[in-house]
Amino acid sequence: MLAPSKVASQFYCEKKVHLEQELGEVETETMRRGTETHEKAAEDAEPVDMDEVWRAIERGERQELLETMFPGEIAEFALFGIPDAIVFDDGKPQLIFDRKTTSIPTRLFQNQRVQIWIYGYMMESLGFETDDLQLAILSHEQELDPELGKQLQKRILSEHTVLELGKTTLHKEPTALVHLCEYATDDHMDDFQWALGYWRGERDPVPTENAAKCQSCPYKNTCSDSLVS
Ligand code: SF4
Repeated sequence: MLAPSKVASQFYCEKKVHLEQELGEVETETMRRGTETHEKAAEDAEPVDMDEVWRAIERGERQELLETMFPGEIAEFALFGIPDAIVFDDGKPQLIFDRKTTSIPTRLFQNQRVQIWIYGYMMESLGFETDDLQLAILSHEQELDPELGKQLQKRILSEHTVLELGKTTLHKEPTALVHLCEYATDDHMDDFQWALGYWRGERDPVPTENAAKCQSCPYKNTCSDSLVS
């Protein structure tokens, strides 16, 4: 069983993913703050009966689902993912939303692109039409007030159809942008297949070539490929 966030992390440092599997995951300050902001964003959400939600989606009703687990599959692998939000309308997914805390909100990193694309692919593998599907990532600096972050998330979920594709600045100091694109099956299929090679045991994990990543890595003192001493 694979999580999209884990597959996406291979594009940050695959060796780190490997060490997490071998040695156990280490909770970092960034992860702890990320959990807090996600909890804040979901605090108004009501628990739902998923059977009723599926019926409402089939009836073509709009549904906004926050932090909801979805299954999917590719080749011999089962996937389970929890996107920050999905908007359904007209019987199909219209928007998948993810939120990232980053020191460079203007830049979208490969692991972020791949993760949200996998959520889209999971929708497709469930049999949904994805012709209208958009992918939105809210990238913001760590200092963004969690309440403001929650409001920006709500705005993106309700206004994504009138936002420009590409980057839109939503707040300055601290910086918050939305990166919006249309989903396409082919966009990251090659990346996904490359990532699956590791889980199939076809190759050794690939370490990063960026020493800055090693500097902030919790495994820097045990990793044989660490670029820092
Ligand atoms: S020390 Fe560097 S190469 Fe090793 S797992 Fe961490 S980030 Fe990857």
